[in-house]
Amino acid sequence: MSTVVLRDLTRRFGNVTAVDRLNLEIESGELVAFLGPSGCGKTTTLRMITGLLLPTSGDILFDNKSIITIPTEKRGAVMVFQKHLLFPTMSVGQNVGFGLKMQGVAKQEIERRVDEMLELVKLPGFAKRRAHELSGGQQQRVALARALVVRPKVLLLDEPLANLDANLRLEMRELIRSIQRELGITTVFVTHDQEEAVMLADRIALMFDGVLQQYDVPHSFYQRPKSTRVAHFFRNDNLLKGTRRGNYIETPLGRLSVDPLHVAQGEGDVLVTVRPEDVQLKPNLADSNCIEAKVLLQVYMGTHTQIQLDVAGHTWLVHGPADLQVQVGETIPIQLPQARIWLLPSA
Ligand code: ATP
Repeated sequence: MSTVVLRDLTRRFGNVTAVDRLNLEIESGELVAFLGPSGCGKTTTLRMITGLLLPTSGDILFDNKSIITIPTEKRGAVMVFQKHLLFPTMSVGQNVGFGLKMQGVAKQEIERRVDEMLELVKLPGFAKRRAHELSGGQQQRVALARALVVRPKVLLLDEPLANLDANLRLEMRELIRSIQRELGITTVFVTHDQEEAVMLADRIALMFDGVLQQYDVPHSFYQRPKSTRVAHFFRNDNLLKGTRRGNYIETPLGRLSVDPLHVAQGEGDVLVTVRPEDVQLKPNLADSNCIEAKVLLQVYMGTHTQIQLDVAGHTWLVHGPADLQVQVGETIPIQLPQARIWLLPSA
């Protein structure tokens, strides 16, 4: 187990800056997800941590010591890839024990640790099977066992679930989380799936275009996004222009009150946002923060009804109950609960 610190970490490929001055601290035993759209620099960062790629500039520290000049095999970081690269002609046991054999560990000790790992990834008794006789999910679990058997300081997972079907992904997510908790191993997990990051991670590092946008606990990406871009990535495009004056926001639809403890933007122009699931559709009109909106579209989703609203020229998405009765074209009152209002920078 090890702390991991990235300091001004930068990697360029010709004109492309794949990772741009990345600063990040990962605590020992923490599971951090690198999240972001394709090409944002997640894999490049992981490859630099593992030593497969040299940074253009910046530093990487394990337990406060720079590891930049230490070769991959001596760093104590192991990587599990999207495609499980098992040795096809070897048995499962030989695959899992390969790293230990390279380290010169005694045969009996290898067998003991391999069995222990296969137990952990829920493949007991699979040691004698050939790798090509396994399903995709089983192969991925063998790849995980092979990475963990050498007791790495840091585990790096590069979209390890991307090739699995939906049910298997869910199962593997739970397995990875429980193993990670049990072993307390510092883990970095790369994904472009926002839901996966939220389910698995202690903290999420969201990157766009090689630049870290927000590093936070999952809940904050929903309730306290740093920018409209971050909010959009977490499926919230509900915006209303306003100007903050003290504990009030002046908007084209009237004055809203905000809880100063719940907002981070100062005085002046802001964008008001409330998540689709937090907008109240049956407000008590005597309550504060009630505004009017026009229904543009209504879609029954089975578990709930999704409606599109025109809110002062902005299109908002709101989730209502499955039996919601509204008409397209109708103007309805909605409430923006004070504790659910978040303010974003206007620029
Ligand atoms: P994905 O989710 O698609 O795997 P990613 O976030 O992991 O994407 P990276 O693979 O880190 O993104 O790539 C970041 C940027 O660096 C991209 O623009 C990519 O084209 C570029 N890049 C990555 N590796 C190389 C390379 N070896 N040579 C040139 N450009 C590269």
